[in-house]
Amino acid sequence: MKSKHPETIALHAGWRKDATQNSVVVPIHQTTSYEFDSTEHAANLFSLSDFGNIYTRIMNPTTAVLEERLAALEGGVAGLAMSSGQAAELVAITNICHAGDNFVSSTNLYGGTWNMFQNTLSTFGIEVRYVNPDNPEAFREATDERTRCYFAETLPNPKLEVFPIKEVAEIGRSLGVPLIVDNTAAPIICKPIEHGAAIVVHSTTKYIGGHGTSIGGIIIDGGNFDWEKHGERFPMLTQPDPSYHGAVWTDAVKPLGPIAYIIKARVTQLRDMGTAMSPFNAFMFIQGMETLPLRIRAHCENAEKVAKYLNGHKDVTKVIHPSLMTGEAKRRAKEHLNGGLGALIGFELAGGKEAGSKFIDSLKLLYHVANIGDTRSLAIHPASTTHQQLNPDEQLQAGVTPGYVRLSIGIEHIDDIISDLDQALKSI
Ligand code: PLP
Repeated sequence: MKSKHPETIALHAGWRKDATQNSVVVPIHQTTSYEFDSTEHAANLFSLSDFGNIYTRIMNPTTAVLEERLAALEGGVAGLAMSSGQAAELVAITNICHAGDNFVSSTNLYGGTWNMFQNTLSTFGIEVRYVNPDNPEAFREATDERTRCYFAETLPNPKLEVFPIKEVAEIGRSLGVPLIVDNTAAPIICKPIEHGAAIVVHSTTKYIGGHGTSIGGIIIDGGNFDWEKHGERFPMLTQPDPSYHGAVWTDAVKPLGPIAYIIKARVTQLRDMGTAMSPFNAFMFIQGMETLPLRIRAHCENAEKVAKYLNGHKDVTKVIHPSLMTGEAKRRAKEHLNGGLGALIGFELAGGKEAGSKFIDSLKLLYHVANIGDTRSLAIHPASTTHQQLNPDEQLQAGVTPGYVRLSIGIEHIDDIISDLDQALKSI
């Protein structure tokens, strides 16, 4: 049964029961390989004239359920699981961006992503062009004939200003450039594909897994970008691919739907880079997904209450959460978020860096960890951790000031979260 409701999709999409054992829960197919029925069957699988399991680096039945479920949740046509969120971003970009090409990215990014774009992709000969998302037109201005995609996060911390997905996706479409959106911080509450994004990536490590047990990522193809129409920009999809005996991806998979991008990512990028998700982790993410719609609601409700509490505290000079925003930032949040405003909060202490460290060291309930999206409430000081490898200018561009503290609000009882924050603030 098809449903449009995330609560149902998260439990049912892509699976009913095991065909031989009737198992209700998705089994963990902890296998590297799959026996071929015959040499003809094997040859057909390798030539893609038949689709089926070959080797777990490229596909796995447990992982396939996660891929289908997350694609359904995001309103995409197909998914491709990865070993981490970083791997999902890397493959999402290198699938269509090669040496000599460039892509345009929002400046408001997770520090690890910034670092990969700035320092690693540049060694591949891929240029990142950073633009300020306050001005969507900057994406158009930075585009030339070698621009292969735009990249942004839906709800980037530390600024927590929702990215103008709709405006930038439209600019991209007018120029033949697809928008890739990292929706890690806003599953369920934002559906970037509905706003025009072509590709969505997630670090499933965060809210999707939700329990802080496993590292993983996913790429979801919206199936809504016309690669053939913009064939001169995407020869890797519309011209014979020498890495797969001359396959033309937009032709090869046409009978299966608009999945040229994601099939190429699977059978060339994943095959060659080997960034596969383990079947066990796929199982953990499937478990996490079952309660994702419920958890996100609880995370967001708690976060709004924490933001309100901090906003009224005498030692806090600034609180960052979409519920407290005004003007264009408020408009963008309203336009793109539905059912919650996210569970990340930033705040600045009057006492600066020293007060920030003291506050973190005084927490008793909140964990001091480099993670977000756990069921538990978490806190960190980005300038000395997640954004440490950026120079001071880059940190400021990303919105990380010395006294900034980031909270990822969990689903404990709100009274206990606020009581812990209160005692830690008193100890400064
Ligand atoms: N994207 C965002 C928004 C993140 O916060 C992170 C990690 O913190 C990543 C991507 C990278 O994900 P992973 O740690 O799973 O590689």
